[in-house]
Amino acid sequence: MKCYDCDLAERGDTTAIGVCSRCGLVVCRAHARVTQVLVHLQRGPGKSSGDRPARRVVCGTCYGAEHPN
Ligand SMILES: [Zn+2]
Ligand SMILES: [Zn+2]
Repeated sequence: MKCYDCDLAERGDTTAIGVCSRCGLVVCRAHARVTQVLVHLQRGPGKSSGDRPARRVVCGTCYGAEHPN
């Protein structure tokens, strides 16, 4: 599949490596932002997040919207 941001910039065929978890568009390696998130577990009282972060991919536009500064 083709990266949406590359398609907008008419950069031709690029291979998408992921799907933005916010807007659902496919993104290539250059346009994707892979972030780490803590997973909240349903474990009753006490510790409620895992020790190991999960992975989440968003596109550059959504990443910018989530991190305005
Ligand atoms: Zn791209
Ligand atoms: Zn997005």
